[in-house]
Amino acid sequence: MTYSSAALLMLQQLGIPLEWVSARNLKEYGEATLLDLAERDPNGREHLLFPSAANKWRELKTAARREGIDLYIVSAFRSVQRQSEIIKRKLAAGVCIEQILTVSAPPFFSEHHTGYAVDVGTPDSPVLETEFEETAAFQWLSKSAGLFGFVMSYPMGNASGYAYEPWHWRYVGERL
Ligand SMILES: [Zn+2]
Repeated sequence: MTYSSAALLMLQQLGIPLEWVSARNLKEYGEATLLDLAERDPNGREHLLFPSAANKWRELKTAARREGIDLYIVSAFRSVQRQSEIIKRKLAAGVCIEQILTVSAPPFFSEHHTGYAVDVGTPDSPVLETEFEETAAFQWLSKSAGLFGFVMSYPMGNASGYAYEPWHWRYVGERL
């Protein structure tokens, strides 16, 4: 795996050992160049996705609602810059980098840069928590998200070394 010099510099700045990244075979992702509004949440925050992923997300959401399941986007596209701010904020709060990296990808290595990944929420379930797997929304996604080209990126025991993330899905197209 080879990485860009910008990515290497970022790792260095944040104190993330290159070995941590290479041992997990993490892929470096480019930032999406095209983005569409996938949905706007009640307080006006816009969630952006790559256009095809945004379309499919809306189809998926409509299909879920027809079956009585409410889904919403907690987080979609995120820039490299934003990812680095998130990590810097956690470091400043005294969290050690090893702990941060179990839940946050290093900047340049997050699927959220691509505009294909969504963190999904459903009413009455805490966001970005493992409990999401106990919801009807998760059951519905497990059964039906594939029909819309979405797959769960980080199942239990994933090779990337991230914690289990039942809420994190990415659009891989209609080749399932
Ligand atoms: Zn995510």
